[in-house]
Amino acid sequence: MGTLLAGVESEIELHETVPMASDDIRKHSKDWMQVVTRPLDSSPVAPELIMAPLNAHEQFVRQAIALASQARGEGNHPFGALLVLDGEVVLTATNSVITDRDPTAHAETNLIARAMRHLSPDQIGRAVLYTSCEPCAMCVGKIYWARIRSVVYALSAQELAVLAGPDFLVPCRELFLRATEAVAVIGPMLVEEARAVHVGFWTKPAA
Ligand SMILES: [Zn+2]
Repeated sequence: MGTLLAGVESEIELHETVPMASDDIRKHSKDWMQVVTRPLDSSPVAPELIMAPLNAHEQFVRQAIALASQARGEGNHPFGALLVLDGEVVLTATNSVITDRDPTAHAETNLIARAMRHLSPDQIGRAVLYTSCEPCAMCVGKIYWARIRSVVYALSAQELAVLAGPDFLVPCRELFLRATEAVAVIGPMLVEEARAVHVGFWTKPAA
């Protein structure tokens, strides 16, 4: 576990909370978690899963956004996701709803399908899912039933709805809160970068 809150600026904007100085995240980890989970202070949090320095989260979120860009380049919807295990990216996936002619082939569902084939249940339980956009209701269900218990996303569903139009829009935390087991959620993060990959893609106006 390192030090490090160098990349915390984006969270400050979102949550209007000044986190502690950088040098001892373990000592202040509770405060820090409250910062990153502030939109739902009452939500259950799995502390051991959320304990990564924010700049590490940003690094992986940025990779998920790059995957979203890749998906768009391949003719699919601009979404990407990856799974990190013990600090390393172990699996990546992109949206493939067009090329697979499967409206359920979201980046997260594709990622989890791969995880089921390649990882043990224990590994999946310890992994963190990073995604370029807040998981939809379908993906929240798949994440939960796959026993992934830590999720970090970039663009919020609400922000996406501004670009793509609102459809089946449910904040992921609302759904995870209905679950028996806690799922730690961090986001939104790197919103401007996450939005950029969608600009000019969606033709459906927001309602
Ligand atoms: Zn989805």
